[in-house]
Amino acid sequence: MPEDNSTTPRPDVRSPWVIDTRTLGRRPGSSREVRRDVPVETELGVPGVISVPKGENVELDLLLESVVEGVLVTGSAFAPTAGQCSRCLDPLSDEVELDLTELFAYPDSSTEETTEEDEVSRLVDDLVDLEPIVRDALVLALPQVPLCSDDCAGLCSVCGVKWADLEPNHGHETIDPRWAALVERFDESPAGGPEEKA
Ligand SMILES: [Zn+2]
Ligand SMILES: [Zn+2]
Repeated sequence: MPEDNSTTPRPDVRSPWVIDTRTLGRRPGSSREVRRDVPVETELGVPGVISVPKGENVELDLLLESVVEGVLVTGSAFAPTAGQCSRCLDPLSDEVELDLTELFAYPDSSTEETTEEDEVSRLVDDLVDLEPIVRDALVLALPQVPLCSDDCAGLCSVCGVKWADLEPNHGHETIDPRWAALVERFDESPAGGPEEKA
């Protein structure tokens, strides 16, 4: 690597996240569509809460455009999600979709020279590595409070049963703790009690 002072590691061409832009050429205005299903090898998100599970695919539907400063990647990423409803704790499955816009600067462009390494993505040997960008964007796009449905009523705070499974008039008699002791004392025939006096 003679004149490459960049610290960005060279992307692995075999990775499905990596796109070789050489066929695009450097003439501003030329473009190429890229559609790919990229298998998820490490679960993305918060396991048990909401995530794109390992083994699922991230669908990428992208347009690569040659611009003066580099290669502009726009398009969308789509993936199925799985997790747990934060109100009723039922398992849920959903999907996440997001728009992507990312400039990958040419190594010798003024963008490359006037920005820090971590501000703008770089092309390394004409390769675009989408993995860090898409992973970060997907994780950010996941809901903070996943719900099985927007109007999920959650659980009864007393018995912990799902409201969806309870009678409409479900409720619990609440007894003032000062009376509770009296009720126990005067309750002479506890149904199913441990001892019945004969
Ligand atoms: Zn729910
Ligand atoms: Zn209840």
